[in-house]
Amino acid sequence: MTATLHVCRHCDGLILDPEDAVEVAYEHGNSGPGRSIWAHREHADLVDRIDPDALRIMTRIWAHREKDTQP
Ligand SMILES: [Zn+2]
Repeated sequence: MTATLHVCRHCDGLILDPEDAVEVAYEHGNSGPGRSIWAHREHADLVDRIDPDALRIMTRIWAHREKDTQP
């Protein structure tokens, strides 16, 4: 049996452990079968919650934090 590697929708990393792969969505193909969207188990909750507004706010927080940790 050959394990198929999935790519995490959240972090774009390969999900190396099949036990860690969670199917979070399914995209229907225009012709033929669609494909499943996968994520790491710990990232599955994050996939649909990131929206552009939240990302912009998070980016500002991260930038702020980085500045604060500079000597
Ligand atoms: Zn991930």
